[in-house]
Amino acid sequence: MKALVYHGPGKKSWEEKPKPTIQQPTDALVRITKTTICGTDLHILKGDVPEVIDGRILGHEGVGVIEETGNAVTSFKKGDRVIISCITSCGKCDYCKKGMYSHCENGGWILGHLIDGTQAEYVRIPHADNSLYHIPPGSDEEALVMLSDILPTGFECGVLNGKVQPGNTVAIVGSGPIGLASLLTAQFYAPAEIIMIDPDDNRLEVAKKFGATQTINNSKQNAIEKVKQLTSGKGVDTAIEAVGIPATFELCEFIVAPGGVIANIGVHGKSAVLHLETLWAQNITITTRLVDTVTTPMLLKTIQSKKLDSKKLITHNFKLSDIINAYETFGNAARERALKVILTNE
Ligand SMILES: [Zn+2]
Ligand SMILES: [Zn+2]
Repeated sequence: MKALVYHGPGKKSWEEKPKPTIQQPTDALVRITKTTICGTDLHILKGDVPEVIDGRILGHEGVGVIEETGNAVTSFKKGDRVIISCITSCGKCDYCKKGMYSHCENGGWILGHLIDGTQAEYVRIPHADNSLYHIPPGSDEEALVMLSDILPTGFECGVLNGKVQPGNTVAIVGSGPIGLASLLTAQFYAPAEIIMIDPDDNRLEVAKKFGATQTINNSKQNAIEKVKQLTSGKGVDTAIEAVGIPATFELCEFIVAPGGVIANIGVHGKSAVLHLETLWAQNITITTRLVDTVTTPMLLKTIQSKKLDSKKLITHNFKLSDIINAYETFGNAARERALKVILTNE
């Protein structure tokens, strides 16, 4: 089969690899029909995720069709159409029992990281019963690719951890796919204001269309002053960090209101300054989380009932075999006006 293979920082190729096989009775083999590229894959290619070894197939998102199942798989059979969760979970360990699938002792984020991933014609999914979701008949499968990672990530790490409430004020720092996923799912709770902050005017324009009440271009405006001005000097009840660099996290520290929450989503490679000299008396909460994907079934229902339109996060379509070009487009997201790219295995 063909797959997108990582060969060390800056190096990748679309090449022939052996088709995966069932290794454990709890495995399923899935033929990928649609997959996508994540900002995390770009981090891996930069060399930010050193556990990823030369020869690893990348990708942790996608939908497909079950090709084969191990003997112990009971919820899925050959021919079933499935959503692949970016988090693999056994459902049996202490962390899984707490609903913290991201820290599963036998899984977690392993796809396209510690084991071969979804940017391939086939993928082996361990603990298939707990790590795959059935696609309801008649679904728009492209829309459901957004359930593998970005929607549960934006919702769990941003909206739920950020305790978004009706009538509250929210700021989302970063208007990329994850920030926009938080913007879409924050609206389940009807906050009074959602302020999007980003240095790219196109992404802010998209955010406006997706329901942002205010936008701030922080390359042209002082975001701290502007947020204070929009919130009667108070700051926001929820500040969601959706970038993953020290400057954006520190911005959240300056715009959170007393009693508010800073909900971090970004993948950080460097330490950020914690301004306890001002925050110690502010009654704030700081949260971190790796997505658990426990809300995937709920989010699937909101898409099915058209309460959530996840398809609008998709800007580009490519054939899976054209993945090198897709990386080029996604890697130059601002220039290409790219959000999520869909790769179809024909
Ligand atoms: Zn991802
Ligand atoms: Zn587990």
